[in-house]
Amino acid sequence: MRWITPLAVGALCLTLAACTTSPTGRQRLTLASDAQLDQMGAQAFQQYQQERPMVGGSPQRYVQCVADALVRALPPQQRQAENWQIRVFRDDSANAFALPGGYMGVNTGLLEVARNQDQLAAVVGHEITHVLARHANERVSTQTATQLGLSVLSSAAGLEGAGGQQLMGALGMGAQYGILMPFSRRHESEADELGLFLMADAGFDPRASLALWENMSAQGGARPPAWLSSHPSHGQRTQDLQARMDEALARYERARQAGRTPDCPRP
Ligand SMILES: [Zn+2]
Repeated sequence: MRWITPLAVGALCLTLAACTTSPTGRQRLTLASDAQLDQMGAQAFQQYQQERPMVGGSPQRYVQCVADALVRALPPQQRQAENWQIRVFRDDSANAFALPGGYMGVNTGLLEVARNQDQLAAVVGHEITHVLARHANERVSTQTATQLGLSVLSSAAGLEGAGGQQLMGALGMGAQYGILMPFSRRHESEADELGLFLMADAGFDPRASLALWENMSAQGGARPPAWLSSHPSHGQRTQDLQARMDEALARYERARQAGRTPDCPRP
C-alpha cells in the first residue's frame, strides 16, 4: 500500500475541510467523523472478541484496575467522550491494541513482559492516547485517499457526489480491525509522548516505561515481534522518553501528592 505524502496531505488540506491538527501539532487528513470511527471500532471489537479466547478473573481485574486509574486521570471531556473498555485475550504474543471509541485489548503474553502495574500502565497509557489522538481516523482517511486517488477527493464535489459514496464504501471495509490499527512511527512517537505524561498524571512511575520497552526489546531478540517492528527503534524510543522524563517525573510527583496512588495487584 502506497501512502500519500505529507505534501499531498497539505494540498488536500487546502481544498477540503477535512483536516485536523494532531495533539502534537501535525496537520493531518480526517475524512470520517468521530462517530463513524467509533462505530467501526465497536464492530471490530465485537468481532475480535468472538474470534479470540478471552480471560476473566484476576488478569481482567488487574488490567481493568490499571486502565481505570489512567482514564480517571484524563480531563473530563476526554474521559466521557469514549466508551472505555479493556479485555484480556489468551495469546502468548506480547501485544496490546486500541480501537476508536476506546476499545482496548491486552494479550496474556504482554502481562508476562510488563512485570508490574507501572510497566503495564506504560502500555495501556500508550494505547489510550492512540484513541484520543484519533490515529485510526487519520490512518483510514489517508488510506482511503490513496485508494480513491487524489483527483476524486480534490474535486469540489468529491465528498458530496460519487466520491463521497466511494469514500463511505471504503470506510465500511475499514471495520476490519487491521485497518484501524495505528501503524506509523509518527503515531507511535506521539502515543509514547502523550502516554508517558498520562501514566505520570495517573500516579504510575513514568520510569517504568523505559524498563517496559527494554523488556519488550529483550524478548524480541534479533527479530522483534511484528508489532514492535512498526514501532520506533528501541534506541530512538528510549532517547525520546528520556528527553521528557524530567517533566514526567514532576507530573508524577504532583499526582502522588494529590492522592493518586494506584494499587493494582498483579495476578
Ligand atoms: Zn502504538
